[in-house]
Amino acid sequence: MDTSTTKTHVVIVGGGFAGLGCARKLAKSDDVQVTLIDKNNYHQFQPLLYQVATAELGSGDVATSLRQTLRGHANVDVKMSEVMVADPKNRTVTTRDGQSYQGDFLVLAAGSQANFFHTHGAEQYSFPLYSLEEAERLRSRVLAVFEDADRDPGLLEKGALNFVIIGGGPTGTELAGALADMISLTMTHEYPDLAVKRAQIYLVEHGASLLAPFSVEAHEYAAHTLQRKGVRLLLGQAVTGVAPDRVGLSDGTSIPTRTVVWAGGLMASPLADNAGLPRGRGGRIEVQPDLTIPGFPGVYALGDFANIPGADGQPLPQLASVAQQCGVWTANNILAEIAGKPRTAFHYHDKGIMAMIGRDAAVAEIGRKRHELDGPIAFAAWLGVHAALMTGVRERVEAFIDWAWDYFSKNRPIQVLDRRDQNRIDWGEHSEPTVKH
Ligand SMILES: Cc1cc2nc3c(=O)[nH]c(=O)nc-3n(C[C@H](O)[C@H](O)[C@H](O)COP(=O)(O)OP(=O)(O)OC[C@H]3O[C@@H](n4cnc5c(N)ncnc54)[C@H](O)[C@@H]3O)c2cc1C
Repeated sequence: MDTSTTKTHVVIVGGGFAGLGCARKLAKSDDVQVTLIDKNNYHQFQPLLYQVATAELGSGDVATSLRQTLRGHANVDVKMSEVMVADPKNRTVTTRDGQSYQGDFLVLAAGSQANFFHTHGAEQYSFPLYSLEEAERLRSRVLAVFEDADRDPGLLEKGALNFVIIGGGPTGTELAGALADMISLTMTHEYPDLAVKRAQIYLVEHGASLLAPFSVEAHEYAAHTLQRKGVRLLLGQAVTGVAPDRVGLSDGTSIPTRTVVWAGGLMASPLADNAGLPRGRGGRIEVQPDLTIPGFPGVYALGDFANIPGADGQPLPQLASVAQQCGVWTANNILAEIAGKPRTAFHYHDKGIMAMIGRDAAVAEIGRKRHELDGPIAFAAWLGVHAALMTGVRERVEAFIDWAWDYFSKNRPIQVLDRRDQNRIDWGEHSEPTVKH
């Protein structure tokens, strides 16, 4: 690729909703040359990771090749590499293999990672759910505990079928619902010799309610729906530590388990540590309303990587729709700058929020209106919302087929235990008191 042309060079770090949204918009301009750098060669669709973890969707349904998505745009070059350092003063980034990329504009959209809040053992022993790799790892663990318990039912006493989800926000709530359905609708048939009914899902939430970003009625609806599905809610409880064989809670009790899922919070991806930029809540980069970083002309931070001020001055939530919209907005601001026009402040068009609680219940809040949806209507609404965020027609069609298959057949087409060797579970006793109270 020749970046020595008269074209304006834009370097984008991250091919998530924000970075890809920006790249796709810029790709349509003949005045711009784009280098898009991502540590993976795919764009991952995070809102559906919990479906990968519960074997409802395959990895290919939630990951799209960046090269394929941007194929046909000669002015976009994709590089698969991890950016280790960003130098905003020189609008340059350096990758793990020592390559440097300098742009006339630099767009930082490296997303987020799990925030363990220094909880003892959490990083080591829990399963976060923020990337495709993590979702695959969790799926393998869920399948592995069933396989092991099927061979040795004595493992039930060691909490083999206890699943503890930390965090009752949308990710934890959606996962709890999907896991409950997986166990009751599928595992009972797949493991007829195993006392699957002894499986127990615990959802631990520090606050007093689930689905904090939603209304009070939605909190109650979510709690009621999960309880109906047999999920035990531990509200107002904090996790004090995670050990290989159990999780400790703030009331002094502990739950024996080999599967602790961390859905307890997010922070900016590690690149934010190495950029020397002003940071706010969650370690995210502080940006101005037009998404530029104060003091660094031509440098933007977007999506989950940034604290983006909303109309009321409060930071906007970490949502795919926010990320996607600010990606396009940044592209427009860059094109405006090139044309000698002023940048404009980002305006988020809030289309509402939705959470699916298992396969037959959902809550959607659009403006001030709240909708509780049941059965196929919930499923159809959820399909529409998620398909609208997907990038390619092929992914939409394939995901639709898998979703519909799962919904109507109650089967899990992706119930394959891969990475068998990595999933040998240590069922030994761990008498050392690694869980602190
Ligand atoms: C489990 C889960 C469920 C969610 N559900 C919903 C939902 O239902 N609705 C909704 O609106 N939002 C949802 N979200 C939030 C939404 O997915 C995020 O807000 C959105 O993905 C943010 O987009 P982004 O582009 O900022 O970051 P990401 O989508 O995280 O993209 C960041 C990209 O940067 C790359 N990257 C990171 N570091 C580097 C580096 N150093 N070098 C190179 N590349 C790097 C990553 O590989 C990734 O491709 C969910 C999130 C999760 C985790």
